[in-house]
Amino acid sequence: MSWPVPRIDEENEPFWTGGIDGHLKITRCADCGYWLHPPTPRCGRCYSERVAPTPVSGRGRVYTYTVNEHAWMPGLEVPYVVAVVELEEQPGLRLLTNIVGCPPREVAIDMPVQVEFVERGAVFVPVFRPTT
Ligand code: ZN
Repeated sequence: MSWPVPRIDEENEPFWTGGIDGHLKITRCADCGYWLHPPTPRCGRCYSERVAPTPVSGRGRVYTYTVNEHAWMPGLEVPYVVAVVELEEQPGLRLLTNIVGCPPREVAIDMPVQVEFVERGAVFVPVFRPTT
């Protein structure tokens, strides 16, 4: 499958490369504990600059999803699931991802999922697999 690779910068590098040691890393505020995604240089709740990438459990639930049936690029295998997964660490802590490891029609809202990583060059793309 031919997927585009995200552009890495200083802020998002821990997120896209955390999978090298098997950890999904989300930016967290050291002062108030708030999780921030996408990563930002300052806490959106208490404005602290003491934020750092921190491993999460990798567990979450499907918040919403869609099944893509159209091959937008040559070589893209369809159908595949584009989903928003809410991580268990914090209500509203969500990331855009793919659901793998089950037929697209079996994906459901609130389905429990666990992160895994797809290596694409220097990038480890977090995707999620159902745990049931
Ligand atoms: Zn904070």
